[in-house]
Amino acid sequence: MKIKTLFTGSVLTFLFAIATVAVAEEPHWDHTMQADWGKLEDSSQTEVPKMYPFAECSIGHHQSPVDLASTSASKRLNRIKTLYPADTVDFYNTGHAVQVNFSDHYQGQLLVGAAAYPLIQLHFHAPSEHVIDTQTFPAELHFVHVRDDGKIAVLGVLMEIGEENQVFQTILDNMPPTEKSHNADTGIHIKPTLLLPHDRKHYHTLAGSLTTPPCSEGVDWYILTNTITISEEQLNRLKGFYDGNARLPQALNDRVVAEKN
Ligand SMILES: [Zn+2]
Repeated sequence: MKIKTLFTGSVLTFLFAIATVAVAEEPHWDHTMQADWGKLEDSSQTEVPKMYPFAECSIGHHQSPVDLASTSASKRLNRIKTLYPADTVDFYNTGHAVQVNFSDHYQGQLLVGAAAYPLIQLHFHAPSEHVIDTQTFPAELHFVHVRDDGKIAVLGVLMEIGEENQVFQTILDNMPPTEKSHNADTGIHIKPTLLLPHDRKHYHTLAGSLTTPPCSEGVDWYILTNTITISEEQLNRLKGFYDGNARLPQALNDRVVAEKN
């Protein structure tokens, strides 16, 4: 009898252990519910703050994107330099955006003054997330850089309608139509620099966040002053994947947008 009780006890302990190490499940989200991202619950968790993995989206004070209309010009900001060699990439449909993942040993990086930020991926939003005096642009490109210590810097490029962009066409042509799927074995090289405007010296900068859940802050933003163009047809192809995958502008609060000129 005693043995049986002990056995039952240990089974309960075992089951309890399984319950407490339940794998966190990211809540489903999309852009139509962006006003409520912070309230979404992880049903596998029972305690705050783990129950609300996206809380920063609603309680953060340095969120992105923002309206870039009011800027203070400065010549004293760091120079930035984009060192983006060609790479054989993975075309990834994330379920929220059209994305290009760079290879494991890719050497591409963004230099901000003397600090180097490795380029990990790029992706697109339509319409733009950053706006200027409430005006959106047709699309916006984000080059996402992540350092080994976790520090993130994003270079944003606003996209207008005009001449088509060949690299963008390659990305559209190789993007898998199914959500959360990769096209990694094409062997196709892309040259990321061809997705940048000729003038890459001038930019807007501020401290912000990821623009999708979990909206983590501490992200340094550099949004180029100059734009690139894609054709109307290319914009429609992009919107065929995701139309409206843009977060609305967030309050600046105590921040000032600085402009390198
Ligand atoms: Zn983005």
